[in-house]
Amino acid sequence: MLWRFFFKCDRISVVLDFEDFCFLLMAIQPRCCVDGLLKSCVERGRYIEMGKIYIVMYHYVRELTHSRYPRIKGMDIRLFRRQIDYLTQNFSVVTMEQVMEAASGGGRLPERSMLLTFDDAYMDHYTYVLPILEEYGIQGSFFIPGKTFTTHQLLDVNKVHFILASADENRLLEDILERMDHYRGAEFDYPSNKELFREYAVPNRFDNEKVIFVKRMLQTALPERVRNRISSDLFEKYVGVTEEQLAYELYMTFDQLMTMKRHGMYIGVHGYDHYWLGELEQQQMQEDILKGLEVMAPFIDRKRWVMNYPYGSYNEEVLKYVRKEGACLGLTTKVGSADLRMDERLELPRFDCNDFPPKSEHYLEIG
Ligand SMILES: [Zn+2]
Repeated sequence: MLWRFFFKCDRISVVLDFEDFCFLLMAIQPRCCVDGLLKSCVERGRYIEMGKIYIVMYHYVRELTHSRYPRIKGMDIRLFRRQIDYLTQNFSVVTMEQVMEAASGGGRLPERSMLLTFDDAYMDHYTYVLPILEEYGIQGSFFIPGKTFTTHQLLDVNKVHFILASADENRLLEDILERMDHYRGAEFDYPSNKELFREYAVPNRFDNEKVIFVKRMLQTALPERVRNRISSDLFEKYVGVTEEQLAYELYMTFDQLMTMKRHGMYIGVHGYDHYWLGELEQQQMQEDILKGLEVMAPFIDRKRWVMNYPYGSYNEEVLKYVRKEGACLGLTTKVGSADLRMDERLELPRFDCNDFPPKSEHYLEIG
């Protein structure tokens, strides 16, 4: 077997073959014995191999074509089954407990380890995902914004998804710009539409500039009370059900979450209100995380829990706070494979489920 050794220093990465690595070590430590050197090389090689893990992120998984909102961006249930089939044949799906153990140096992960994560507490996960994971005998990790099962209010993130799935994007953009003009003035102050568009309409891998602009305005950029009013108006105009009704259909209940846990699924923390934590004032950020932890108490070990930052938004203050409160791992939306030996444990990258077959083979290019 050919061992390769991977070194990372600042932003420079070097891969050395086994022989080069031995030569380098001999040069650094000329008096060390060859036996010891070989042993340490092999162990180090395994050590590095065993730390790599593919973490995959899912959101909506549902009967898309036959649902009331076929334009919701999610994975159709038939594709999900085919994907799980592919992943179980080509990777070793591990549990969050195994990952936590390996991250603390107590255990090793198998080669081509994969962890499946599901964000936002959707009923889809209880109805469609759980039975399939059970059928394949694998675990999923589910990250729950505390508000979803305590108040039955619709999160902003979902309000926006369903507005976008129900309206024409050009008409919606016009509508939102008009409303932003309407509310701008004495009570609320924020930059001009032109300035905001320049700053926020930055397309990403999944959304064009118009869609991103609508999302950013209603999720974070406008003052909270303005964006609540605008998104409630637009929701009423375009979606056709009440927010409360949709919230009941959309999220898992406390009892369903308990059932997930009883069936061996891992339950983790995703804030309370699904805020952009990295954009909040320190006090509001801490209150949101604390409130999330309080309502999640029946599902988590308060001394050793896993954080998943809503929208992948965090900063140094957020990291410091979740570490102090007992988070042992943190999941982001940075794209790529994670390395438990090299990455910050509170900043692990993930792949999107669309990066794997049968949707695509992007994971091979991203690495
Ligand atoms: Zn989320």
